[in-house]
Amino acid sequence: MSAHAHAQLKLYIDGEWIGAGSRRVHRVINPATGGTLGELPLVDTVDLDRALLATDRAFLKWRRSTPDERARVLKGAARLIRERVDHIARVATLEEGKTLAETRLEAHVTANLFDFYAEECRRTYGRVLVRPPGARSLVVKEPVGPVAAFAPWNFPIGNPGRKLGAPVAAGCSVILKPAEEAPGAAIEIVRALVDAGLPPGVVQLVFGVPDEVSRHLLASPVIRKLSFTGSTAVGKHLLALAAATVKRTTMELGGHAPVIVFDDADLDRAVELLATAKCRNAGQVCVSPTRFYVQQGIYERFVAAFTERLRKVNVGDGLAESSQMGPMANPRRPAAMERLIEDAVACGSKLRAGGERSGQEGFFWQPTVLSEVPVKARIMSEEPFGPVAVFAPFATFDEAVEQANRLPYGLAAYAFTDSAKRALLISDAIEAGMVGVNTVQMAAADSPFGGVKESGHGAEDGPEGLDACLVTKAIHQA
Ligand code: NAD
Repeated sequence: MSAHAHAQLKLYIDGEWIGAGSRRVHRVINPATGGTLGELPLVDTVDLDRALLATDRAFLKWRRSTPDERARVLKGAARLIRERVDHIARVATLEEGKTLAETRLEAHVTANLFDFYAEECRRTYGRVLVRPPGARSLVVKEPVGPVAAFAPWNFPIGNPGRKLGAPVAAGCSVILKPAEEAPGAAIEIVRALVDAGLPPGVVQLVFGVPDEVSRHLLASPVIRKLSFTGSTAVGKHLLALAAATVKRTTMELGGHAPVIVFDDADLDRAVELLATAKCRNAGQVCVSPTRFYVQQGIYERFVAAFTERLRKVNVGDGLAESSQMGPMANPRRPAAMERLIEDAVACGSKLRAGGERSGQEGFFWQPTVLSEVPVKARIMSEEPFGPVAVFAPFATFDEAVEQANRLPYGLAAYAFTDSAKRALLISDAIEAGMVGVNTVQMAAADSPFGGVKESGHGAEDGPEGLDACLVTKAIHQA
């Protein structure tokens, strides 16, 4: 397989795999080298109308499928993803940059999620209300209908998996538009579902000019739900489009995760966990720990230990087994790092490590530590989405909570303390959809993943993710 044919880049519409033909194409880039990996076909409005027709037809049949039929497809796809893990991981690493260890794990996590939903789809229970004899009132759950789903590039395997697992389990059809920058792994996830027996039209895969695709799909009354993961700015734009036809929405938007480290925390353990989490996918993770508020008594020691740990991270091509952190996924990210870090230093922050691009080619950025970062620095409010940790000291519990809750974001938050009472109080006080106390592990197949405030609404994963693909109907009979 040549580097230029690393994956079969195709659309999947109405049960047919479709190549470029005379369509426009997008050049897919390897972020470790800047080289071209392949050309991705982009849809036109004729393709989108065909997909809408097929999604409408397929929904009418799939909604009547039994949980057993849906479970068979999801379990089959999970097995195929595990069998094909080496290929899927390689494709994702080539296109997105993160290390093979990360993409392999991502493929297994996706397989586990499909297995979870294969079981969970049997449990879309309703309620029987208490009524006098001779009368019956029921509350039943039904699939919401065809979903338009938009997945970003940062988890090229996991994001498409999340956008497909729950709707397919719920009996919905889906038109998925993953990011054009990392399409190959999404294609492999759809291929696994198709090879496992998913009927034509239940899932369709389109790539295109994002604004054209979202406007076209969201204007259609066929689409009953919008599911989006990406930036808050784009999320607001899509919410406005969806409002015209009052579609159901699940929005997984940006974050700016605070980390509160109290002076009684296990310092070595906290440094190790947080440094590893910070460098995961070069910081391009919506739950990446970013604003580090460390209590005065251990501030200096913590920043020094964290800086030393980040300096040791081996940055390199994600395909090399020795690499612990790959490049950033596209040229926009290092450019954003440059802007934010320059501004922070100009505002008086201390640059303790990194702060620059690394390597001769590709989009590599050095793991970066900024300390004594003032509130006015843009990086304290704008999501950096990169391998940079910003530090500021705090004195009291209330001060830390005020800083943590200061932003309009509320996705993930972390706290480290050995006091059971503080752990309880801080997890109650933080405005976030997910709180990690003495852990950085947030995602699990059985647990809701999602935010509050401008980080979005609705959840993916867990029973909540399935519920987000269902509507309720009350049936009264006398
Ligand atoms: P962006 O805001 O341009 O795009 C974010 C995602 O939305 C991409 O996948 C893109 O393809 C998609 N998108 C953009 N415009 C769209 C439209 N009109 N219709 C449908 N989809 C559209 O930013 P970017 O440079 O790709 O990513 C950087 C920012 O995005 C980050 O700073 C971060 O805030 C956010 N982001 C968040 C997540 C997440 O997991 N929540 C993932 C990726 C990116």
